[in-house]
Amino acid sequence: MSADHSISDVLRVDPDGGAIIPGIDPAGTPGVRDRETAEAAQAGIAERLHSLQERLFVEGTRSVLVVLQAMDTGGKDGTIEHVFGTMNPAGVDVAAFKKPTEEERAHHFLWRIERRLPGPGQLMIFNRSHYEDVLVVRVHSLVPEDVWSGRYDEINAFEAKIAAAGTRVVKCFLHISYDEQRERLLARLDDPDKHWKFNEADIDERARWADYQAAYEDVIRRCSTDLAPWYVIPADRKWYRNWAVASLLAETLEEMDPSYPRPVLDIDALKTRLAPPH
Ligand code: AMP
Ligand code: MG
Repeated sequence: MSADHSISDVLRVDPDGGAIIPGIDPAGTPGVRDRETAEAAQAGIAERLHSLQERLFVEGTRSVLVVLQAMDTGGKDGTIEHVFGTMNPAGVDVAAFKKPTEEERAHHFLWRIERRLPGPGQLMIFNRSHYEDVLVVRVHSLVPEDVWSGRYDEINAFEAKIAAAGTRVVKCFLHISYDEQRERLLARLDDPDKHWKFNEADIDERARWADYQAAYEDVIRRCSTDLAPWYVIPADRKWYRNWAVASLLAETLEEMDPSYPRPVLDIDALKTRLAPPH
């Protein structure tokens, strides 16, 4: 990535234009020349990420929240493994949001989210998120429309509040095609080691593809804000997806520029104390 094209500018969506998702090719590779270039850059990006995340952790004041959303097989787990697996686990955590428990259902939809927000210095990854409450919930009419339709504004207010409290919010929609999802589901069936990942309910969800795409379109249009932007990551090619999310995160952390604390140390006195015994 050359310095004159920031990946966040390349992937950031414009909510004021026409339809967003239909204009983005899931097999596209914006911002990088080819696979070889992306793969050659991975080690360097991982090193940058490792050092930046360490600085965030020891600075201990601000935090980062990465929200990952995707259709089934979209690559959330693979992204977490590749992009975040090289960081120091002491400062990194993952929260997966599934079908709400009975206890969770008894609370406001943001209750379970608030409990997993990153603490100072932490980098938190959400594998699914509060956005499910305007995605699956909308597609399946799990609550009345007048309830879910009010949630976009609630989410924007919530994210503005956490951003103001020192959390950088980065939201990534891993965008795969209908055909690629079929390939990935078939690949799971063809590999006995992947059968555990196969969920027949994913085929029912797949039948509602268009409804989900429309729901995602509204999420991105209504909830991509300056404080908490949405990025649409073309995700049919795993090498591109990994490169893009890693680059985006490295760039975001570089912009935050976390710094090591600089305590005042009397270096000479401390070295004298460490002098070898006579
Ligand atoms: P997985 O990510 O494959 O383990 O599946 C988790 C499932 O939980 C997905 O089918 C989600 O749509 C579902 N889920 C997550 N959040 C909610 C929610 N707020 N309401 C209903 N279902 C949800
Ligand atoms: Mg699933």
